[in-house]
Amino acid sequence: MGPGAVSRVPAPCGTPAAYTRHRSHGEEICAACRDAWNVRCREYRALRPVPWKRLRPEPVPVVLTGREAAVLAAHRGGDLVLGDGAS
Ligand SMILES: [Zn+2]
Repeated sequence: MGPGAVSRVPAPCGTPAAYTRHRSHGEEICAACRDAWNVRCREYRALRPVPWKRLRPEPVPVVLTGREAAVLAAHRGGDLVLGDGAS
């Protein structure tokens, strides 16, 4: 280790840093770290109230009219004639 090297002392358990370390190492997260993380999250949420997660808009159901359904059926049947004049 040369001069100026940042000491890599792992964060002690019971800190959010240790929680992330557990996670990144794929270790089981101990209760102390979990608590610390929960507290951190609560503080964070208190500071920045997050609005409801934006919901993905539901896809609009496709409702085919009789004619459209007929065209689609013809298309699937392979005998759709293009340019037959939409009405
Ligand atoms: Zn821990």
